Amino acid sequence: MKLLCASAVAVGISAGLVSCSDSDAASVPQVVAAAYPFAFVADQVGGDAIEVHNLTSPGVEPHDVELPPQQLADLSDADLIIVEGGFQPAVDDGLEQIAPTGEVIDVARVVTLQDAPAEATLDPHIWLDPQRMVALTNAVAGRVASLTPDRASEVRDNARRLIDALHELDAAYRSGLADCTRRTFVTSHAAFGYLAARYDLEMVSVVGLDPTVEPSPAEQAAIADTVTREGVTTIFTETLVSSAVAETIADETGARVRTLDPIEGLTEETSDETYLTLMRANLVALRQANGCS
Ligand SMILES: [Zn+2]
Repeated sequence: MKLLCASAVAVGISAGLVSCSDSDAASVPQVVAAAYPFAFVADQVGGDAIEVHNLTSPGVEPHDVELPPQQLADLSDADLIIVEGGFQPAVDDGLEQIAPTGEVIDVARVVTLQDAPAEATLDPHIWLDPQRMVALTNAVAGRVASLTPDRASEVRDNARRLIDALHELDAAYRSGLADCTRRTFVTSHAAFGYLAARYDLEMVSVVGLDPTVEPSPAEQAAIADTVTREGVTTIFTETLVSSAVAETIADETGARVRTLDPIEGLTEETSDETYLTLMRANLVALRQANGCS
């Protein structure tokens, strides 16, 4: 359908004669990313040589995204799909239902996953480690270049720029978190395991991998004990998840509440930000909370 529509437009046939949607009429490859960090990489690498659709709408928590029929249709029409198996059950189910014709990059096969903290499963939050984002960028660049042979050198240049920025980010984290009064930080859901492992920090999370499961009173009390014992100054909350429990713990312990963005999606407040600017803001927040010099 995409080729038919593109050639119909090219020879000037009235669009009324063929059933083409706007995106079908575009002559650039269609890329569907399951969540913001993957869409960010595709967008940076592909520029206007591709069109990127994010399955997770702004303001939606991607773990529990649901896919309406139009998005299933986007998936089945896509030239390239970037998902992470095990991260978003609705996306995994959708892919099984539609048997896509386009290529699929499963992020879980491109980067090395580590175990989730305190859960018998793998941790999906790889994008909070800039080094794993480099591996993902290389994989996406390879596929996008093969989809856009005329613009392959431009795609490789874009990828190189993003990889340079990711290396700079990694270096800023490494030096910025090298010398801190505390290594423990308290977050809302357990999204920062890769970041903690990479930069030698200790993450304590108020909820687990699934942001919607609240801690028991005993778990809550144990977190409050840790906050007091370790002298934790800040309870981090996040933009897409309720902060009620975190605020209760902060009240009990006298800690501040600040935002640490797991960068699972943009919101109205962060619509002008990017993965890179949000990671920089997270670094500032972590340095303040942990007394880093
Ligand atoms: Zn998450």
